[in-house]
Amino acid sequence: MLNEIKVTSILNKHKKRDDWFLGNYTLNPYAGCPFNCIYCYTRGSKYGGDHGSEVALKANAVSMLKRQLKNRIRRAERGFIVVGSAAEAYPPIERNLGVTREILFLIKRYKFPVHVCTKSSLILRDLDVLEEINRDAILPDDLKEKLGCGVLISFSFSTLDEKLASILEPGAPSPMERLETMKKCSDAGFKVGIINMPVLPFLSDSSEDLEAMIKSAKIRGAEYIIFSGLTLYGDGPYDCKMLYYQFLENHFPELVLEYKKLFSSSFAPSKRYQMDLAKRYHEISTKYGVKNRII
Ligand code: SF4
Repeated sequence: MLNEIKVTSILNKHKKRDDWFLGNYTLNPYAGCPFNCIYCYTRGSKYGGDHGSEVALKANAVSMLKRQLKNRIRRAERGFIVVGSAAEAYPPIERNLGVTREILFLIKRYKFPVHVCTKSSLILRDLDVLEEINRDAILPDDLKEKLGCGVLISFSFSTLDEKLASILEPGAPSPMERLETMKKCSDAGFKVGIINMPVLPFLSDSSEDLEAMIKSAKIRGAEYIIFSGLTLYGDGPYDCKMLYYQFLENHFPELVLEYKKLFSSSFAPSKRYQMDLAKRYHEISTKYGVKNRII
């Protein structure tokens, strides 16, 4: 049976615009995510419980959003709403429930711009309402010229390796399905891109891996690729750090020691690793004419 919760807020305001996703707001129509990615930082004690796999419907999402959007308009606080920032906005139950669709209609009505982050092809169902948002949204003044569109659609990836993805992202559509969905969104006239987060040390971070990601994205219309390394949090049974090390022990035991050296006592890989990754990513992106920022 589907869990239902009531929320006291659905539209979360940032202190300032987020440089990566351009969001002034984040919005997650559902709590939890059935795609169940092993590396998902929203799992476990960081957010409480097995947040990664239990989906709950936010029963009052639409009425709460209506109230909050009206408030923001009254205060003239317009800006991009990032939909699906911490949980998939298109889990399979969305096909029947249509909550994300209702939310998009509300966003359209109040003319806010939107950045949808997803792994799902179900977004194709909503291209009709997204088209209207794209055309009618009121952008913050400084983005009007730089961006010129009211909708961004980003697809997230950790790897293009189908076998690896089926282990790491067991409930999610395959990488190829995501790429093809992105192409359809691009063909429909939307600004699309890739969120390559996380790049996986020793598994999807070779220069060949990065080139394959960037090239595959480019030929399917991606205008930007935002990337970052893996982060591993927590020592609880549902925490991504514990699950990720279990995954390594089961499938790549030879890498356990390498990861321990790379992460040391931090939640992130060493600075040196991150700088090297960024350098290679920028070089290959430049070669293909893909930006590493949305604007
Ligand atoms: S799709 Fe996103 S939110 Fe869902 S489990 Fe994977 S990383 Fe987490």
